[in-house]
Amino acid sequence: MPFSSLGLSKPLLDAIADQAYNEPSPIQAKAIPEVLQGRDVMAAAQTGTGKTAAFTLPILQRLQQSPKPVGKGNQARVLVLTPTRELAAQVADSVTTYSRHLNVKSAVVFGGVKINPQMQRLRGGVDVLVATPGRLLDLHQQNAIKFDRLEVLVLDEADRMLDMGFIHDIRRIIKLLPKKRQTLMFSATFSNDIRKLAKTLVYEPVEVSVSPPNSTVDAVAQKLIAVEKAQKSEVLTHLIKQNDWFQVLVFTRTKHGANRLTRQLTSRGIEAAAIHGNKSQGARTRALAQFKQGKVRVLVATDIAARGIDIDQLPHVVNFDLPQVAEDYVHRIGRTGRAGASGEAVSLVSHDEFGQLADIERLIKQVIPREELEGFEPLNRLPQSRSDFGTHRKSKPKHSGSRGANNKSETMPGSHKRQSKNPKRRRKPSSHNKNDGSGSNSIGRSRQRVG
Ligand code: AMP
Repeated sequence: MPFSSLGLSKPLLDAIADQAYNEPSPIQAKAIPEVLQGRDVMAAAQTGTGKTAAFTLPILQRLQQSPKPVGKGNQARVLVLTPTRELAAQVADSVTTYSRHLNVKSAVVFGGVKINPQMQRLRGGVDVLVATPGRLLDLHQQNAIKFDRLEVLVLDEADRMLDMGFIHDIRRIIKLLPKKRQTLMFSATFSNDIRKLAKTLVYEPVEVSVSPPNSTVDAVAQKLIAVEKAQKSEVLTHLIKQNDWFQVLVFTRTKHGANRLTRQLTSRGIEAAAIHGNKSQGARTRALAQFKQGKVRVLVATDIAARGIDIDQLPHVVNFDLPQVAEDYVHRIGRTGRAGASGEAVSLVSHDEFGQLADIERLIKQVIPREELEGFEPLNRLPQSRSDFGTHRKSKPKHSGSRGANNKSETMPGSHKRQSKNPKRRRKPSSHNKNDGSGSNSIGRSRQRVG
């Protein structure tokens, strides 16, 4: 199906052509016509599915159809809320990219940087404002932004917003917005908490879903290397050097672990940078830019900091530590195998992480293929995985009680708890449910679109 059949205007089709996208991704094909019609939408889609364009393109068209001077009073016509600064910056980049042939004023605001330039940018109003919740509330308190004329609200990665403890900020923001508006909610999964929040937010929403919850991206080759905990950084060094890997995204569980690993890699001649919640915004942006430019070979990240990072064609993701929450494994490996590229996700797993491994394999309903590296065979053997998924009781995922606001969510050193090894508004929008259950949904899976 071509983009032109979705009812998008020429300036938007031109911007899409500039990006060399061949055809809409499944979430775009389903969401764009609904948003164009002014419907509220609840969309289950992860990063990597093309979700940003799925809401940005039709919103830009609606703005263009009823041009209004943003005029006096620091008003915004569209507000996109994101959980992290990185994601805010990325969404704002997409708005700029897709609106390049339109006359649209956009801005992005997030914490960790000076507020004054942001206040100046908002003076005179903006069409589209992309924001993280805390900084937005600060700006509102200082009268730098007003919402009396807001037309569209987008909650991006709503599940992660709740995980990060933003629920109170979100509720405060919603109270400031006009009741009559269009609301779009994007979330990787629709948990009960998300549905509860949705009841206060969306009106007769159309539900679109393109990613069966917790499925892994088929384009990603997954593998597990059983290792001794103390040898993980040596094993990683060996893998990077031996295979001549470039652009490796490595996940650690803690900020402390990210810093330590970065130091170790650097001391062994591998350029590496860390990105996590304790780093200043400047340092995070710099690290990401250097990584994208190939100046830094390895980016070591914690889950929260990496959420939403979009690096095209990222070939290698390494789980240096397995995540505490099994769902994060899916998010992590979703960083690779994008846009038709094949990717590889390698997990270094030590004996003490077997509980987490069992939770992940149960979630993705597959046993991850295992290897041992010659010379690095673990002394403490990793127990065999079970493959009788679904027949034994699932242990409750540990959210480690840590997902508080302000990026405190990254687990602090020493707080690791081993998981069980033996885990024996009211309307049902289902009439609009557009889940085709095809399972072939992410851009990575469909392998069709890279121009
Ligand atoms: P997102 O899920 O919004 O983070 O998008 C993931 C990546 O897919 C981004 O690099 C987009 O530029 C790219 N993308 C979005 N839509 C398409 C499309 N229709 N075809 C190919 N790539 C796309």
